[in-house]
Amino acid sequence: MLGCKERGQLELFITGSLRQLIPDDHVLARVDRVLDLRWLRDEVSDLYCADNGRPGIDPEVAVRLMLAGFLLGIVHDRRLMREAQVNLAIRWFCGFALHEPLPDHSSLTRIRQRWGAERFRRIFERTVQACIAAKIATGEVVHIDASLIRAHVSWDSLVVRHVEAVTEANDETLFDNRKKGRSKKVCVTDPDATMATNGRNRRLEPAYKQHTAVDDVAGVIVDVEVATGEENEGIAVVARLDAITATTGAAMAVATMDAGYAYAKVFRALEDREIEGVVPAKAEPPPGKVIPTRRFKFDARHNIARCPRGKILHPRGKLQRGAFQHFHANAKDCAACPLKARCVSPSRYGRVVVFNVNHPSLLRARRRRLRWGEREERLYQRHRWRVEGVHGEAKTWHGLARAVRRGLDNMRIQAFLTAAAINLKRLAVALIALIYGVLNTHTRRKQLHSFGVA
Ligand code: SF4
Repeated sequence: MLGCKERGQLELFITGSLRQLIPDDHVLARVDRVLDLRWLRDEVSDLYCADNGRPGIDPEVAVRLMLAGFLLGIVHDRRLMREAQVNLAIRWFCGFALHEPLPDHSSLTRIRQRWGAERFRRIFERTVQACIAAKIATGEVVHIDASLIRAHVSWDSLVVRHVEAVTEANDETLFDNRKKGRSKKVCVTDPDATMATNGRNRRLEPAYKQHTAVDDVAGVIVDVEVATGEENEGIAVVARLDAITATTGAAMAVATMDAGYAYAKVFRALEDREIEGVVPAKAEPPPGKVIPTRRFKFDARHNIARCPRGKILHPRGKLQRGAFQHFHANAKDCAACPLKARCVSPSRYGRVVVFNVNHPSLLRARRRRLRWGEREERLYQRHRWRVEGVHGEAKTWHGLARAVRRGLDNMRIQAFLTAAAINLKRLAVALIALIYGVLNTHTRRKQLHSFGVA
């Protein structure tokens, strides 16, 4: 017989808690079992007046609202609050009764502005420490990669400006890293975002660059940081190595990165910290007409270089950009040399080569790359699977494909909350796996119920 449903229900009556209406396997129900924000009130109490003013939103409620949005992929505040009006799971997760009014969406903006990005970093770091305590992360083998995030600006907001003219007319510090004498596209609505090329479709677009470090054990994110889109990977990674160790409290043994990080100073930083780097060092360029720099031997201990004829080149001038040193050959040596035509530029009397002071580390990394065995190849495969998988997950399910708000600080907050949401999912899954692993199947249902786990 064809069923018929009476849809004219005017009121909802329930007895008991909203929790009974939410499935046990709902992501918010799972995350709630592992989420502990009791420490947060003390963390932000210094930002509020103790005895004056209208009481603000409970800090734990505010963070639960934001985390619920990132867990469900509802990253815009207005949409989140509209959804929370009718979504029982969000109401229960944040502690709002069925008829209780929700805060205005602008309250979340004010909270972000008041707390600043570093408080959100601490929320993220707490999730890392919870994962380490649950033994689903160790911080010993870490995969590091970068991903571009499209800035929240329209194409119409991009203008082409001549860098020198702009630096004269505006704040020098905004542009001091840019090459002079070139025209650059600048976002007038979000100056922190810079033009960067996506490696996949080679499209130049305004973007931020997120550096993510993922633990090898269960894909827990152990570090995340955001820079402008044009900043190269070598600049950020050295500081990240120390930050990862500080967050996890464990000595990192192996770090894998892709070729975008294969800079001499990155290899030097890995060596200084006694971390094994599984990084495919770029191969040497093919030979040309001029005798290449690689035919010159850099002696870091004596700070000299030797040319293919065995003559010594001495350093001259200051270090450029903190790492690059010019070495000059003696003009008399070059004048008498049979290789002069292939070695010295016609406009000069003697050869000049430039070495990065960290060049020996790069050479050692190249030699190690040639000796990669099965273990290194397997680690590098896991790098792609682990960290690129996390980027895909964050972009597909948690709204990281595009910045939600403008400005570097807002982008960092988005990155920290997204990473915290992913870690909480890992933690919730680990709890379930742990419980399933230790329980007898006959008593599983009864005992799981007592844990509140499906
Ligand atoms: S031209 Fe000068 S630098 Fe080049 S190989 Fe001869 S002596 Fe050495």
